[in-house]
Formats: sequence, structure tokens, C-alpha cells
Amino acid sequence: MKQYDVIIIGAGPAGIFSALELISRNKELKVIVLEKGKDIDARICPTKVEKVTCRKCPECSLLCGWGGAGAFSDGKLSLSKDIGGNLSRYVEDTVLQDLIHYADNIYIQYGAPYHVYGGDEQQVKALKDQAHKYGLQLIPSRIRHIGTDRCPELLKNIKRELNSKIDIEFSKEVKTILFKNDNVAGVETKDGEVIYGDFVILAPGREGSLWLEQQARIMGLSLLKNPVDIGVRVEVAASTLEPLTKITYEPKLIFHSKKFNDRVRTFCVNPYGEVVKEYVKGIWTVNGHSYSNKSATNTNFALLVSTFFTEPFDEPHLYGRYIARLANLLGRGVILQRLGDLQAGRRSTPARIARGRVKPTLIDAVPGDLSFVLPYRYLLNILEMLRALEKIAPGVNSRHTLLYGVEVKFYSRQLKLKRSLETEVKNLFAVGDGAGVSRGLIQASVSGIIAAREILKRIGDGI
Ligand SMILES: Cc1cc2nc3c(=O)[nH]c(=O)nc-3n(C[C@H](O)[C@H](O)[C@H](O)COP(=O)(O)OP(=O)(O)OC[C@H]3O[C@@H](n4cnc5c(N)ncnc54)[C@H](O)[C@@H]3O)c2cc1C
Repeated sequence: MKQYDVIIIGAGPAGIFSALELISRNKELKVIVLEKGKDIDARICPTKVEKVTCRKCPECSLLCGWGGAGAFSDGKLSLSKDIGGNLSRYVEDTVLQDLIHYADNIYIQYGAPYHVYGGDEQQVKALKDQAHKYGLQLIPSRIRHIGTDRCPELLKNIKRELNSKIDIEFSKEVKTILFKNDNVAGVETKDGEVIYGDFVILAPGREGSLWLEQQARIMGLSLLKNPVDIGVRVEVAASTLEPLTKITYEPKLIFHSKKFNDRVRTFCVNPYGEVVKEYVKGIWTVNGHSYSNKSATNTNFALLVSTFFTEPFDEPHLYGRYIARLANLLGRGVILQRLGDLQAGRRSTPARIARGRVKPTLIDAVPGDLSFVLPYRYLLNILEMLRALEKIAPGVNSRHTLLYGVEVKFYSRQLKLKRSLETEVKNLFAVGDGAGVSRGLIQASVSGIIAAREILKRIGDGI
């Protein structure tokens, strides 16, 4: 019979930082990490080695395995407590900022670069004031950029540290959480193995969020609403966005549209980056990457609309998938349109794209017409925000600007959690993106640390 002090489900940043915190403070602890994906070197996406389209692998190598979705992410660590998650609901602001600093230092210890973008407070303040004039709210954020190419090495360094101290099992998908008299008891894996544990930390990420939701329903746990953000990825010449990106690497701007008063925001800005396609559970959506040592000539960012008031319908996820499917249906994947074509009420064609000044970095996006895909409300919100952005970054609203659709951000169903991130089942903790407490690397990592510290406190090793 396998018996552990702590079982961690998922080897993304949340799970990894739980393990690091537990073992750095109590070397005697018996900890196991169960991960349904593969070890970092074995995480090979077929599309990266052969000229094939997505094979729809049961465990997507880009999202599952050591490092989780963080392994091939841009590795942009947002060092502000206001970005990348909901942890401020559980932790006081000053404590949260300290924890972010603590997690950031661990990233540096394992290989993140020292440089931080967005550090010049005067310049940031001037930009904030200028944005304010045009109805844009700039959320100042300092960013440490690891880079997609450097993330795997950093994760290997952490794994080397943990290898001899804890058990890590790959291709081990957890099927069921076991509990007895309102206490967690362990887990059962898909291959029928039962592993007992005094504490269980659930860290399955967005990839495992539906599974977590099912488990929560089986255990009778309370679930909160989950939002969905829908929009486009915008691509411009890197010089166009430079007035913003040279001051703050990732300009986080929020705009409330005039017509609908909806919240529109910039998300995941990739200076000198590339637009990429992403396959999530049967649908193609768009995303972006930037590398630490590879410079494309364009900058891309998402414009996302957060709105959903359609009661009695309460399935924002389904709605988001429906919109993405529509784009896939019309474009056989991701649709690309020049802003000028959208404004002129006509579709983009390969010839029109070729004549444009901005050359697309996602070459297999299909020129088409986003007005057949995005509802009027979303399109109008996006066009209004582009007009506002034009005031602080001239050229953004040019007819040459490229729009890729659609970008959808699904957020996990949030579980009802205590401040320690414990669920309504005793000694069962839920952390990271899968539990809806984070939306980025740093807050996912911090949430893992919070759960680990509570466990250490309960077994008498608290700090
Ligand atoms: C393309 C891309 C770029 C990104 N760029 C950034 C960025 O620059 N900055 C930023 O802050 N964030 C970024 N993110 C988001 C970031 O990667 C996530 O917020 C973060 O990885 C969440 O960490 P997590 O540990 O909660 O979940 P994940 O990283 O998703 O890890 C969860 C792990 O659990 C495993 N798992 C799931 N279910 C089970 C199960 N039942 N049994 C066993 N294992 C299971 C999964 O295989 C996975 O490995 C990006 C994400 C993507 C996809």
C-alpha cells in the first residue's frame, strides 16, 4: 500500500511550488507528485517535429507534463498582485505582495533573468496619466521575462533539486479523489492504483479544470460562477507599440466601451513576438509568444471583452466554445482579417493581406471576415478600444493592423475555498488555475506555497 504525507496532483507551477515549499522546510516529508503528462524532455508536440497539423493527443504535450502549461509559456512573471489571479480574495495585499516577491526569488534561483521591465516609476506614471485622458486605465506592472526558450531549462533545474527528495510519477492521471468522513483519504489513478495521503493538493490547471469540477460535484463541494473572455489577437509592427512596450513590457490597459459599458482589456502583449495557434479540447483558438533571444518584427496582443449577462443561461464556457467553433467552421481554424477590411465591411483575401504593411507571423491563419464570427457587441467594443489605443500608440488603429480570431480565455469553475485554499473537505487543498484562484505563473506558484505552508503548520512545521 502506498502511503504519503502529501499527494500533489499536477506538475504545473502550482504543484511544483507546493512541493518545493514543503520539502525545503521539512526534508522528512513523504511527498508524491502525480502528473498525467510526460517529463519535460519527452514533451514533444508532433507539430513541432513534423509538418503535421495537431494530432489531438489525449495529453497535449504543450499543456501537460513537468511544468504544466508554464513549460512552453512566455514565462512572463507579473510581479503585481493585481495581475494574474484572484489571490487577493484570500490573502491580505501586503502578504500577497511578499509572497510574490518570495516566489519570484525562487524563479531567479533556478534560472530566471535578473532584469525586470517596467521599473521606471516616473515614465509609467506619465503613461498612466496620458492613457487616463483617453479613457484607458493602465495597471502598472513589473514583469520578469523568462522567455519561452528558457522555461524548460529552468524547470529542469527545479526537477534536479526535487528528484532525490520526493517521488514524481508521470503518465499518472488521477481519476478519483478519495475521502472518508469529510477528510481527504487519498486518490485513485486511472490505471486503478490507490494511493493514500494525509493531505492532497489539487493543482490540475486549466487542462484539468473540467475533471476537478466533476470531482467537486461528486464530493458535493460548492462551485462559483466561471467567466469567459472573448476577443481577438492584434498584430502590429513592433515600432507601433513601442511607445508603450519600451516603458512597460506588458502594458495592461483596461477600457470601458461607450456603447455597452463593457470591460475590454489588453492581455498577453508579446513585443517582437509571434502569433500562435492553440488547440484546446476540440477547438482552435489564437495566442501569442515572445522569445528571450529571438526577435520577430511584429508585436502582438489580445483585446478581450469580459461580459456575460444572459440569465437564465449560465454557461459562459459553452458560449465561448460556440464562438470559437464558428471561427473554425468558417476559417477551418483561425481567421485573419486586416482592420481596414473589417472597417470597410469586406473580407480579407490572401491578396489583400499580402498588400498590407504588417506581415502575419501566423502563416496558416485563413484570411476571412470576423464580422461573421464575433457578435456586434464584441466587435464594437474591440473597435472602440482600438480607437482609444490609437491616441497613445499611433498606428494601432491603422488599416494595416491584423486581427486574428478568435482568442478565448476560459476560466476554471471556482471552488469555494478557505483563506488557506483548503476546500470544504478537510486537508484537501485546491490551487492554481484549475481551482480558479490564479491565471498566471506567479499567482499559481504563490497559491501552491500558501497550501504548502498551511500543511506545514498543521504538522507542526509552520513558519
Ligand atoms: C501558450 C501559453 C502562454 C502563457 N504565457 C504565460 C505568461 O507569459 N505568463 C504567465 O504568468 N502565464 C502564462 N500562461 C499561463 C500559465 O502557464 C498558467 O497560468 C500556469 O501554468 C498555471 O499553473 P497551474 O499549475 O495552475 O496549472 P498548469 O500549468 O496547467 O499545470 C497543471 C498540470 O496538471 C496536470 N493534470 C491535470 N489533470 C490531472 C490529473 N487528473 N491527474 C494528473 N495530472 C493532471 C496537467 O497535465 C498539467 O501538467 C501561459 C499559458 C499558455 C498556454
